[in-house]
Amino acid sequence: MPVEARRLFRLDNEVLAFRFTATMSDRAGAEPRERLSDPDRLKLWLHAAGLGVPDLSPTRLQDALTLREAIYRAGLAVAATQRPDPVDAAILNGAAAAGRPTPGLENGLAVWHLGKETPVADALGVLAADAIHVLGGADRGRIKACEGPGCAGLFLDTSRGTNRRWCSMNTCGNRVKKARLANK
Ligand SMILES: [Zn+2]
Repeated sequence: MPVEARRLFRLDNEVLAFRFTATMSDRAGAEPRERLSDPDRLKLWLHAAGLGVPDLSPTRLQDALTLREAIYRAGLAVAATQRPDPVDAAILNGAAAAGRPTPGLENGLAVWHLGKETPVADALGVLAADAIHVLGGADRGRIKACEGPGCAGLFLDTSRGTNRRWCSMNTCGNRVKKARLANK
């Protein structure tokens, strides 16, 4: 994975679709941070996610951001035990249907092959399909929004007691702990 991607993005979310929504960070804070600020950033993020595409246009970036925000809104709804808005579900379904990615098993690992003709649509199709599986799957009751200050990032709580509160112990969990210690 390129070092630059690790510096620019939070890549520690186990769920690919939620890692994608984390490219907008500090969502509940005073100043949400857009990390996909230009098409090259999206290309870098996709590469880090195993979805390498050639150069892409501002229109494709806009498609990606539209999908990302639909995933985020749908995730928040599911975290609140509500059904996703049909408009958001339609955006996810449309992106999933537009992609033609092919799964492959290479060196013991699952990979995605993107077509040469519409690689970006294929990559977005992978993200949409991943979101659909997690938002509508058996573990949907484990989807949560992070309680870290200003974060509200989505994560899948796979802990045994379903009592995880933060998207990541390394970032939000630590921040809360430090704040608690400082107040003692
Ligand atoms: Zn968080």
